[in-house]
Amino acid sequence: MFRRRGLTCQQVVELVTEYLDGVMEAARRARFEAHLAGCDGCAAYLEQFRITVAVVGRLDPGDVPAPVMNELLSAFRNWAGDRDTTG
Ligand SMILES: [Zn+2]
Repeated sequence: MFRRRGLTCQQVVELVTEYLDGVMEAARRARFEAHLAGCDGCAAYLEQFRITVAVVGRLDPGDVPAPVMNELLSAFRNWAGDRDTTG
């Protein structure tokens, strides 16, 4: 799991909808993007989420079908786990 002073991967996952919705405050947005720049896992997650949003047409995670959300989160966690074991 990628960790620095800024956001953790978990926080990035939780903030993805806020980021895509364009309601995130500038300072937080900068930290969010800084994390993405240094974390391939979250960058990939964001890209997958964008695709999902394009498919379902909504940003509210409550409207994303649970199986889709679970699959995304599972894929992300698997990736993060792999990174943990390989350093
Ligand atoms: Zn990350």
